[in-house]
Amino acid sequence: KALAKKVKEEVRAAAARMERRPGLAVILVGDDPASQVYADGKKRDCAQCGIYSEEYILPAETGQEELMLLIETLNGRSDIDGILIQLPLPAHLNERAVLSVVRPDKDVDCFHPFNVGELMIGEKGFYPCTPASVMRLLAEYGVELSGKSCVIVGRSNIVGKPLAMLMLRENATVTICHTRTRDLETECRRAEILVAAAGKAKMLDGRHVGQDAIVIDVGINVDENGKLCGDVDFPSIEPLASMATPVPGGVGAVTTAVLAKHLVLAGRRQRGN
Ligand code: NAD
Repeated sequence: KALAKKVKEEVRAAAARMERRPGLAVILVGDDPASQVYADGKKRDCAQCGIYSEEYILPAETGQEELMLLIETLNGRSDIDGILIQLPLPAHLNERAVLSVVRPDKDVDCFHPFNVGELMIGEKGFYPCTPASVMRLLAEYGVELSGKSCVIVGRSNIVGKPLAMLMLRENATVTICHTRTRDLETECRRAEILVAAAGKAKMLDGRHVGQDAIVIDVGINVDENGKLCGDVDFPSIEPLASMATPVPGGVGAVTTAVLAKHLVLAGRRQRGN
C-alpha cells in the first residue's frame, strides 16, 4: 500500500506538469463481476492521479466487428493515450485478433504482439502492469536479482511469462512452474524469490517456502468464507519468509498505480516529449 501511494504521488505530479492530462479508455464486454471490480479499481486510481478515463460497457453478445470498430475509433482519438480491454472476453470473440487492433503505443498493459516482442528482445516498450509492479516492489525494497534463483508458479501470458522475461533481464536464474510440474514443493523450496501467480487460493504454504525466501503473492482469489485471499497461505509462510507481500494491499494495489504511470508515459510518447 505504501509503494502504491508513492507511485501514485509520482504520477500525479508528472500528470500535473503535462499540458493535457492523459486519457484512458477501458472496454468491458459482458457482465463479469470480477472484471467490473478490476476496471473500477483502475478508474479510481487514474482519477486519483489526475488522469481522465472513460469506460465502455458492451453487452456480452457484442460482435467482433463492432468491438474492433470501437477500438479503431479510440486509436484515432488524440485525447485517449491508453486503451485497456478487460479480459476474459466472451468465448465467441477472438481475443488475439481483438488485442492486435489496439495501437501498440496505446497498449499500456502490453497485450499487443509487438509489445510482447519488444519485452522479449530487450527493447523499451510497455511492460505488462502486474509483472512491472512485482519488479517495482523488489526494487523498492532493495532486493537484488542478479544471480538469484527465482521461481514463478504460473505461466500465463499476462503474469508468469512476462515476469520471467523481466527477471531474466535483471540476471536472475528463472524457473517457471505450472500444472504439469512434477515436484512443485521441491522446485518452490529452493527459490530465493518465490512468486505465486496460479490463481488457486492458499495453494502455497510452509512446505513450499525455504528459509529466508522472499515471497510475492500475485494471486487474487476468494476463500471459503468469501474473503479476498492470495495463492499463499500467509500465516504458514510467515515464520520462514524474510519478506512477503499480502493480499489484499500488495501486488494488486501497486499494479493499478503502475497502470496510471504507463498512461503518463504513453501520453508523453504520443506527444513526443
Ligand atoms: P491463469 O489462470 O491464466 O494462469 C494460471 C497459471 O497457473 C497457469 O499457467 C497454470 O499452469 C498455473 N497453475 C494453476 N494451478 C496450478 C497448480 N495447482 N500448480 C502449479 N501451477 C498451477 O491466471 P493469471 O491470469 O496468470 O492470474 C493468476 C492469478 O493472479 C489469479 O489469481 C489472478 O486473479 C491474479 N492476478 C492478479 C493481478 C494483480 O494485479 N495482482 C493481475 C492479474 C492476475
